[in-house]
Amino acid sequence: MQNNTTEKRVRRNVLLMGAAVLFVALAVVICLVLKDRQGSAKLFRIRFGSGTVAEYDAYESRTIVIHDGVIVDQATGEGEENVIRIENGAAWMEKATCPHHECMEQGALRADTVLKRPLGAWIICAPHGVSIEYVGGGE
Ligand SMILES: [Zn+2]
Repeated sequence: MQNNTTEKRVRRNVLLMGAAVLFVALAVVICLVLKDRQGSAKLFRIRFGSGTVAEYDAYESRTIVIHDGVIVDQATGEGEENVIRIENGAAWMEKATCPHHECMEQGALRADTVLKRPLGAWIICAPHGVSIEYVGGGE
């Protein structure tokens, strides 16, 4: 009689565990679907000047010129200037008037290689206080 009860309890536990596994699997699938949907809004967030933030669609090609802390139409190659290029889901520092051009050497920020870069989702021009951040989700 006691054995029978134990067996029932074990069977119930197995059923509960099965349900838990199913629940976790479902949660994982939901997370993946949500993540994928979020991934459609990919953008580059550029910080410059005294706290200015500008965001650009990663797949709309454009060139952004930041001159002495403001966005201008034309690059002059003088003063504190950064020329940022966005193309096909990638962004990079095309030109900069900073002393060592470290920002230009940081390569391109791409949606698919963002985690393999030493600086992760960032390109930073420390002397000019200009940064490019890759933002994968729609906040
Ligand atoms: Zn720089």
